[in-house]
Amino acid sequence: MNTREHRALYRGVETYLDGEADPSLAVSVRRHLAACWACSEDAEWLVLIKAALGRIGERRPPDLAVARLARYASTVSDKR
Ligand SMILES: [Zn+2]
Repeated sequence: MNTREHRALYRGVETYLDGEADPSLAVSVRRHLAACWACSEDAEWLVLIKAALGRIGERRPPDLAVARLARYASTVSDKR
């Protein structure tokens, strides 16, 4: 690993993973990821973390207010 290259490109890894790197940075980061264990390991973690964060909205628990309304509606309809 080239330490100077590592320092220069370390912050570019997340930019690259977010798809925000310009073409020349993307080429440099891809080449660096193929050679640098530290950055490639961080990149794998970042990919996993970003994927998990992206799924948070998909796994929302049932809304408590909706459950309370449903329970209230069932008690009201039982009394009629
Ligand atoms: Zn590196």
